[in-house]
Amino acid sequence: MISTENILLETPTPEPPVDEAWDVERIRDDFPVLRQTVNGKPLVYLDNAASSQVPQVVVDRGARYLEEEHSNIHRGVHYLSMRATTAYEGAREKVKRFLNAREAKECIFVRGATEGINLVMHGYGRKFVSEGDEVIVSAMEHHANIVPWQMLCEEKGARLRVIPMNDAGELLLDEYDALLNERTKIVAVNHISNALGTVNPVKEIIATAHKHGVPVLVDGAQSAPHLAVDVQDLDCDFFVLSGHKMFAPTGSGIIYGKAEWLERMNPFQGGGDMIRSVTFEKTTYAGLPTKFEAGTPAIASQIGLGAAIDYLNSIGRERAVAYEKELLAYATAKISAIEGVRIIGTAREKASVLSFVIEDVHPHDIGTILDQEGIAVRAGHHCAQPVMQRLKVPATARASFAFYNTKEEADALAGAIEKVIEVFS
Ligand code: PLP
Repeated sequence: MISTENILLETPTPEPPVDEAWDVERIRDDFPVLRQTVNGKPLVYLDNAASSQVPQVVVDRGARYLEEEHSNIHRGVHYLSMRATTAYEGAREKVKRFLNAREAKECIFVRGATEGINLVMHGYGRKFVSEGDEVIVSAMEHHANIVPWQMLCEEKGARLRVIPMNDAGELLLDEYDALLNERTKIVAVNHISNALGTVNPVKEIIATAHKHGVPVLVDGAQSAPHLAVDVQDLDCDFFVLSGHKMFAPTGSGIIYGKAEWLERMNPFQGGGDMIRSVTFEKTTYAGLPTKFEAGTPAIASQIGLGAAIDYLNSIGRERAVAYEKELLAYATAKISAIEGVRIIGTAREKASVLSFVIEDVHPHDIGTILDQEGIAVRAGHHCAQPVMQRLKVPATARASFAFYNTKEEADALAGAIEKVIEVFS
C-alpha cells in the first residue's frame, strides 16, 4: 500500500474569477502546436475528440521528469526513485481532487479509457457476471465500451442489452428502465457521445440502476475534458478518462472505482508491484491502487496528466466549459445554415462535437479537402459503427472543439465546407 501522506504537491495556481472574460488568444499562446501553418494556411485544429493538444507547461513537466527525475517508482530507496514516486503519486492526488474522489487509492492509472474499461470487464465482469446475466450499454457507445462487454458476454453466456436512442441522438430512458432487472449485473454508458456530442443524463441513469442494486460505469473519455465531473455527486461506481483527450500525453488515463468495488475485484494483470508476497504455491495481492498497476507504468505521461489538471484549474474549468458551449452554438448555427449540410446529432444537451454530412459527398472527401485548407477534422465512423447504422449514414465528418478554438476558426470551417460543396456541384 502506498502512502501519499508525505507527498509534497506542487502548489496549484488558484482559479481565476468566473466572470473574467475568456481571452482565447492568450490561451492559444499556451499551446505551441497551434502556432503552425498546414498547406500554407494557419492550422485550425478541430479534432479534439480524438486527441486534444498539450500546453507548454505539460510539455515542460514531462521534460523535467526525463531530465531530472527519470527513474522507476515505488521500488527504489534511492533519491531519484523517491522523487519519481513523489511526482507520480502527486499526479494521483491531483486526479483525486479533479474528480472529487473520496480517496486517491480509488484512482487507478491506466493507458486510457480502453484499458480502464477492460480493467473493469476483467476485474468485475469475469468475477461477478455468470451465464444468463445481462450487461447494459447504450446505442451510442464507442467500440471501447461495447467490444469488451461483448467478449465477456460470449465467454460467460451472458446477454448484452442496449438502451435505444431517438433520431436526434438522445437515449430513451423509459426503455432503459424496462431493461433493468434482477439479471442485470452492470450498466456501462458514455457521458458524452464522441460521435454525436450528446451529453447523457448519467446522474439519472446511475440513480435508476442503483434502485436495482446495479453498479454503473461511466465512460468519461469525452466528458472529463469538457465538463466539471464530480464522481461523488454522480455516485458512479466507475468513471474512466483518457489523458490524451484532456491536454495530457498519450498513455495517461484513469479508471476511478469506488473502493468497495475495487477491493472485491480481481486484479487485471499480474506482475511486479501488484503483489504482497509471491511463492510458487500462492501469490497474495497488494492493496489499492497497486493491485491494479502491474509492471512499470507510463510514469512521464501520468505526471503529465497531473500537470494538465493543474493547467485546467489555472485557466478556470467553469469558464472554459461556458466558452466551449458558446462556441459550439455559434459553429452549429453557422454550419447548419449551409444548404446541403445535415447535422448528425441534434440532442438538446450537447458538448464539443459537431458531426455533419454533405449531400452526395463522402466524409473522407470532406476531410481531405478541409485538410488542404489547414483544417483538421475527423471523417469516418468514429469507432461508433452502431451509431452510424442507427442513423443510416455510412460515416460523418466531425469537428470537435476545445477552449482554445475560436469563432474565426468556426468561420473558416464554414467557408471550407462551402468550397467542398462547390467542388462537388
Ligand atoms: N470512449 C469514448 C467515448 C471515446 O471517445 C474514446 C476515444 O475516442 C474511447 C472511449 C477510447 O479512448 P482511448 O482510445 O483513449 O482508450
